[in-house]
Amino acid sequence: MKIGVLALQGDVEAHRSVLEACGASVVPVREAADLENLAGLVVPGGESTVMSRLCDRYELWEPLHEKIAGGMGVLGTCAGLILMASQISGGTKNFTQKTLGILDIEVARNAYGAQRDSFEADIDVPLLQTNVRGVFIRAPRIETVGEDTEILGHHNDAPVIVRQGKHLAMAFHPELAGETRLHQLWLEVLQTEN
Ligand code: GLN
Repeated sequence: MKIGVLALQGDVEAHRSVLEACGASVVPVREAADLENLAGLVVPGGESTVMSRLCDRYELWEPLHEKIAGGMGVLGTCAGLILMASQISGGTKNFTQKTLGILDIEVARNAYGAQRDSFEADIDVPLLQTNVRGVFIRAPRIETVGEDTEILGHHNDAPVIVRQGKHLAMAFHPELAGETRLHQLWLEVLQTEN
C-alpha cells in the first residue's frame, strides 16, 4: 500500500521507519503531485503552526481536501492531530491557523506543558487488547469530542487516541517510541474500507 508522509517539517523519518516496518511503501509529500494514488497520508509531529503556514505557501490545502474527499485516510500524531482537528481553542496570536477539519474535536495546543515536561506513557487501547507506548512532547489536549468521533485511548481520563472513519490521530508520538501497532491498525482500516 502506498502511503505518503507530509514532509514539510517534523518527525518524517520516524514515521517512515514505522510504516516500512508495517510493510507500506512510503513517499514523502512536499507538493500536490506527490498526493497521487496514495491510500493514506501521515501528518507527522512537529510544529503545527509551521506546517500550517507551509501548506499555505505550497498551496496544499485544496489538493489535500480533494484527496481526502476522494477517500484518502489520514493518520496524525501530536502536531498532526492539531492539523486534523475541526477547532483549536485559544487560537494563535496574530495568526489564524488553518486545519483540515476532518476530526470533530476541539484541541488546546501545548496543554501538557513545555518541552522539558515531555514524558513517556503506556496507553491502554481496549480495541487492541494491549497497551501502546507513546511520547508526549508539548502535546495537545483533546477538549471536546463530537458524536462521530470514537475515542480509542485515554491518559489520565483525557482522550489521547481518536478515530473518525479512515482517520486516526494521537495526541502523543507512538513513532518515537518505536511503537508500530497504531500505524498497523490504521493500515488495516485503510485496507478494509477501500
Ligand atoms: N505543540 C506543537 C504544535 O502546536 C506540537 C508538538 C509536537 O508535535 N510534538 O504544533
